[in-house]
Amino acid sequence: MDIMKSGWFSEVNDLWPGVALSLEVEEVLHSERSQFQEILVVKTKSHGKALMLDGIIQCTEKDEMSYHEMISYLPLCSHPKPQHVLIVGGGDGGVAREVAKHPDVEHVTLVDIDNRVIEVCRQYLPRLSLGLNNPKVNISVGDGFEFLRNHRGEYDVIITDSSDPVGPAENLFKQSYYELLKAALKPGGIIASQAGTAWLNMDQVKFTFQHCRTVFPVAAYAITSVPTYPTGQIGFVLGSLNDKINLAEPVKIFSDEDLDRMSIMYYNNKVHQAAFALPRFVENGLRE
Ligand code: SAM
Repeated sequence: MDIMKSGWFSEVNDLWPGVALSLEVEEVLHSERSQFQEILVVKTKSHGKALMLDGIIQCTEKDEMSYHEMISYLPLCSHPKPQHVLIVGGGDGGVAREVAKHPDVEHVTLVDIDNRVIEVCRQYLPRLSLGLNNPKVNISVGDGFEFLRNHRGEYDVIITDSSDPVGPAENLFKQSYYELLKAALKPGGIIASQAGTAWLNMDQVKFTFQHCRTVFPVAAYAITSVPTYPTGQIGFVLGSLNDKINLAEPVKIFSDEDLDRMSIMYYNNKVHQAAFALPRFVENGLRE
């Protein structure tokens, strides 16, 4: 294996030509080809354990919280009472861990296409996969696109924590997926989806945002910083059925005591507001 030869994992991929983040690897903990993708778990020298799917970094223990907290609390704290939540993807358990902490959330369904990701993360990434064991969380194995076809008007919030738009997650970036998301929401419902980085994949950001804006009366793009994702920045599209909403103004504000009790390390209401303040090139790109 190349990683073992060089001692470094490099995220070389056509999605970001000419640039690659590298992590020094102490040990390869697990490697397999599942029915859907290559699954790799390594112990890195600087970032704890890391999960890669098809050679793309999904999360590292050191910086996963900024992604998992933001994709969860941006929609949850914009909703007045998010009781029923669906997570599409998210087999590592990081989003389920955060969503289940929200006091209003009563029931979480997680649908991941690949049972092997779930099992491997249960074995090697317990800090994330503990979210899968929360009694509020029910797990279903299957394609998120197909699952949504059979679920109408059921959820207050739907979070799509998918891999990138190649391989099994390709359909989750189409406009027809956004139409299914809309149909699966209750009145006033909110969605949030992983939407790529504007520095390298502005086209992906634009088309994802356009799908969301076409389908939902209110749509917004928000950003967070994840040092081990390409360019260190990733964005989310959010859509709401409530046409009066300002997604940048949370309706649920956690106090510092709440945040400490919930072990939240990145998100607070100021970070929520700031996530929607976009650089000019991003704002202009989204207007096109
Ligand atoms: N935070 C990560 C990122 O953005 O790099 C995503 C992590 S999560 C592990 C991605 C999950 O999406 C994987 O477990 C994968 O199996 C799942 N997935 C991909 N396509 C899917 C689909 N069509 N339906 C449901 N889950 C899917």
